[in-house]
Amino acid sequence: WSMLAMYRNMLKQQRLNLLKNDIISNITHELKTPVATVAIVLESLENFGSQQKEDLRKEYIQIAKNELKRLTKMAENILTSSLLEKDQKVSFKSLELDVLLEEKIQSFKPILDHQNFEFQYLKEGSDFSIKGDWEKLGLVIFNLLDNAVKYSKGEKNIKVKLNQSGGKINLQIQDKGIGIPEAYQKEIFEKFIRVPQEDVHDVKGYGLGLAQVREILQLHKGKISLESKEGQGSVFTIQFQKL
Ligand code: ADP
Repeated sequence: WSMLAMYRNMLKQQRLNLLKNDIISNITHELKTPVATVAIVLESLENFGSQQKEDLRKEYIQIAKNELKRLTKMAENILTSSLLEKDQKVSFKSLELDVLLEEKIQSFKPILDHQNFEFQYLKEGSDFSIKGDWEKLGLVIFNLLDNAVKYSKGEKNIKVKLNQSGGKINLQIQDKGIGIPEAYQKEIFEKFIRVPQEDVHDVKGYGLGLAQVREILQLHKGKISLESKEGQGSVFTIQFQKL
């Protein structure tokens, strides 16, 4: 009997360890990009110097402030452990998806500028109201933009499109990066799955971003689809029901 108890205890310990690693990876993943953005902002400000760039200087400072606010909020979330809960709380409110999207794009500006990206944002129509969780949907957009940047080697070109048809809102994030081999196009939405390519995975990550995207979209009854060709780029399309 006591052997059995010991064995059970061992299994429990193993599960706890896995859970702990999972939590640590999640937190690390969330903290990485805001820190990188703030670092780029500081570096750019150091190099600006001249008076002509006053507007850009102000804009960059605002972005850094927003990112620091986001970090502070994350720290609070960790402390109140809402990030660690299995059943995460979702707060559904009506929100303007275009406003959220534009805010997220803005936070990427220093990184896009710094890496000389060609960037286009195309919005067709107005009234992009949906019911959703502002923070969590922000994370969805953030993860997709973050990937588009991370996996763009060679042609640095990102297009974001927002439009609507037949009571649905479509959000598309398109890059001309390394692309995703067909065999992996389903799997990458699973936790810890990354496309195994040597030169790619000097890009740091845990394979958690897209799993998070899928989970959050499920909570919103949103859909995500992927079109991609190796070496040519990827298009992630999200669809929401209009409010
Ligand atoms: P991470 O980027 O941290 O590895 P994700 O879950 O966001 O985690 O992505 C899983 C994998 O899917 C990545 O490791 C990468 O191989 C692939 N991937 C995701 N987005 C893109 C993209 N835009 N272009 C090319 N590959 C991508």
